[in-house]
Amino acid sequence: MLNTAENEIIRNKMIESIDYFACGYCTNKIENIFSDTKKKKVIFEAGVFLIKHRKYGYILYDTGYSTKLLENKLKYFLYRMLNPINISEDKMINRQLEKKNISTQEIKYIILSHLHPDHIGGLEFFPNAKIIISQKCFEEFEKNSFRSLIFKEILPKNFKDNLLIKKIEAENKEFNYLKSYDLFSDNSIFLTELNGHSSGQCCAYIKEKNLLIAADSTWRVDFLDMIDKMKFLPKLIQNNFSDYKKSIEILKTMRADGIKIVASHDQSS
Ligand SMILES: [Zn+2]
Repeated sequence: MLNTAENEIIRNKMIESIDYFACGYCTNKIENIFSDTKKKKVIFEAGVFLIKHRKYGYILYDTGYSTKLLENKLKYFLYRMLNPINISEDKMINRQLEKKNISTQEIKYIILSHLHPDHIGGLEFFPNAKIIISQKCFEEFEKNSFRSLIFKEILPKNFKDNLLIKKIEAENKEFNYLKSYDLFSDNSIFLTELNGHSSGQCCAYIKEKNLLIAADSTWRVDFLDMIDKMKFLPKLIQNNFSDYKKSIEILKTMRADGIKIVASHDQSS
């Protein structure tokens, strides 16, 4: 039998590790995104996070780019024109996991922040994983609007069968900034929504690490203080710019409170 102190240690240590993989990237000129900046090419890595939970094993957060986007289709051509991308087979998430001796079969859960192409690319390699998305994200998926920028053909055929759709509407005293959903009811991973970039964008607060995975609520953390300079076109790409600004303010409050924030497109090196 464990004593109370030992039980306490176990309760507080549900997350064994969090690893990061850059699964391709796109580039853009910073002067096209913000006014009053020095000209510079910026890299936006497609970040994938691998969380190891003591009880539930490996959980992926997003799945990066797919080489499918390099195919000769008008839609992809336009996408690549706006976001020149760099992705190769060996950078896709399945291959990067293999290199670490992690079989794709070991992934039981995948949290998708939202359904833009740079977040869903590797999904096809995990046909048995449960895919966790927010209710609002699912509603956006069902709308079939071009503005949602969801390239459905990249999603696996059985995508809908594997979905676990979560309503993010609870008040949790462990995370008091926004409504949240305690994914495994053990205070380890709180899913929360930061809207604006996409509807129902699902971010993850890992309490033990005091870490928020913020997806695209800001493309990069070093952009957090530049929001007022955002140009017309990048504003237009957001699903709702007024919500986007609100999300940025919430992120700034969290940052001031000492929460570590990582965005999907931060540069890892
Ligand atoms: Zn996005």
